[in-house]
Amino acid sequence: MNDNSTCPDGMAADGAVSVGRRVLLAAPRGWCAGVDRAVVAVEESLRRFGAPIFVRHEIVHNAFVVESLKRQGAVFVEDTADVPEGSILILSAHGVAPQIHQEAADRNVITVDATCPLVTKVHREAGRFADEDIEIVLIGHEGHEEVVGTLGQAPGHTTLVEGPDDVAALEVRDPGKVAWLSQTTLSVDETTRTVAALRARFPALISPPSDDICYATQNRQNAVKQIASMSDLVLVVGSSNSSNTVRLVEVAETAGVGLAQRIDGVADIDESWLADVSVIGVTAGASAPESIVVEVLAWLAARGYADVQTVETAQETTVFSLPHELRRDLRGEAAAGASRRAETEGTRPEAVERDVP
Ligand code: SF4
Repeated sequence: MNDNSTCPDGMAADGAVSVGRRVLLAAPRGWCAGVDRAVVAVEESLRRFGAPIFVRHEIVHNAFVVESLKRQGAVFVEDTADVPEGSILILSAHGVAPQIHQEAADRNVITVDATCPLVTKVHREAGRFADEDIEIVLIGHEGHEEVVGTLGQAPGHTTLVEGPDDVAALEVRDPGKVAWLSQTTLSVDETTRTVAALRARFPALISPPSDDICYATQNRQNAVKQIASMSDLVLVVGSSNSSNTVRLVEVAETAGVGLAQRIDGVADIDESWLADVSVIGVTAGASAPESIVVEVLAWLAARGYADVQTVETAQETTVFSLPHELRRDLRGEAAAGASRRAETEGTRPEAVERDVP
């Protein structure tokens, strides 16, 4: 599927005239740097150490990705107690409380921490505020894995609020020593309203040094806002437990599109949604693979929506290096290889000469 391509005969596979039908494809969309790093960490661990590799919780919130990794030998567990001693356990991109690291160490489980560095940044902020005895108001969704992990960084100092409506009931020890932090995948606009409500109650409210809502979340929300304002229908590819995906649907609805639907893949698309629809916006949450977007575009093209125009609102260049446990191991392998070569060259030069073709 080529962007900006137009159906040559203006006719869909079903014979419908496709004149005027088009797709607006949001950019950026789909995988972010943190998701890419986490998935590559599992694949690289499988390649290096072999199956099974245990993964605590869904590595990223996408059913397709999880199923694919299961087929390659990843075993997903919810509890560290389910991991056999001496095994390798990968911690998901959402991050965990310090207690999980301790549980793993107690069971002699080797952890590879695939927490997104932008979640780790929030963890560090929580730790710093707690060290200064500043009370933290964490804005986020109760029960979401990232929120559970961030709450665990400073449990005695942190209170969760889900939105502006929770602010009035907040009780704090010292209104002059309150800071706010947030989940990385929230609605930018709603979080702005929650922070405004907090500041109205606590004028000395301390902000994090930089935005906690990550670049990927912000960029995808800006992009879907743009296409939603020009579309009759918006399709958001991603799983139901993906926070940033669900936010994209909400943002599209708020931007005024007639209908916004989350889909895991083409099987979820209801043909009746296309009735009287000329322009379809397509985007994907930060954990949804591009291969599914490609399938959706092909499905739409077969129904007369072959004209695909990319609407780019930002360019992303962020890349994260692999978790340090894997980098350290790589360096160890490289060092061991160099040492073996030196030993060979130093002690058995004739053997080396014989081996060289
Ligand atoms: S959505 Fe943001 S915080 Fe979450 S993994 Fe991606 S870059 Fe990291």
